Amino acid sequence: MNELSAKKSLGQHFLRDASAVRRIIELLDIEPGDHVLEIGPGPGALTDMLRSSPCTRLTLLEKDDRFASLHASQARAGLEVIHGDALEYPWEKLPAPCKIVGNLPYNIASPLMWDIVSRAVGYTRAVFMIQKEVADRILSSPGGKTYGALTVWIRSFAVPQKGFVVKPGAFTPPPKVDSAVITLTPLPQNDFPKHPELLATLLKLCFQQRRKQLQAILRAHFPQEKVLTSLEKTEIAPARRPETLTPEEFQKLALTLFMLD
Ligand code: SAM
Repeated sequence: MNELSAKKSLGQHFLRDASAVRRIIELLDIEPGDHVLEIGPGPGALTDMLRSSPCTRLTLLEKDDRFASLHASQARAGLEVIHGDALEYPWEKLPAPCKIVGNLPYNIASPLMWDIVSRAVGYTRAVFMIQKEVADRILSSPGGKTYGALTVWIRSFAVPQKGFVVKPGAFTPPPKVDSAVITLTPLPQNDFPKHPELLATLLKLCFQQRRKQLQAILRAHFPQEKVLTSLEKTEIAPARRPETLTPEEFQKLALTLFMLD
């Protein structure tokens, strides 16, 4: 199937390392009766192994019409092919329970994971291959150089875990950078941020100027009095920089700053 040429615009780098494929599928921990959704099956490196796994339902979501029709031509009971854009997929309607897997197109991996963790209800585990640099950001801790909006957002909805690193030679064509596999396990829904839109707004404000002190960033957008009382109420020192706040601190601060309490 690899004779179909790779489209750069769709982030196509096809996995050709059987051991990496096996390790990704192992991380998904498929059990009989599972429903698995694969994002971007392409020519089918992961798909072939998913087909012979104990999952009873497999959904393939692919934007490239060549690969969507290739898999549709092999459709059978329990296999559904959706020809569409994962960024447009109605993640809140994802049938539960479901496991999600994908060697994600690197150009859309961050916004796609942003959407999935916050909107998909009922997925029990996700395993994604992404750029190593993005994996490092997601896995970083407060105070780290790569700790940012994506880290806080993902950790507000899920627990990320490190899988393994994959070198460019494992793909055709090889990407310019290393890749890494991560696992995301959703937090209980009761622990999700109550007003995610407020958290998203605060994260965008703060991480545009990550080297500035929090009080200076916030004063440009809120009345001084509101800034001071909110920081006092949430017990966050005004001189701290955004990159030092935990996800819980960001969530508390967003609620206090934007609510009229
Ligand atoms: N799973 C295959 C593998 O591991 O060899 C292909 C992985 S390739 C990195 C990314 C795949 O995602 C391609 O098949 C590409 O066509 C598909 N893709 C790109 N953008 C997409 C989008 N917005 N929605 C769904 N699939 C997309």
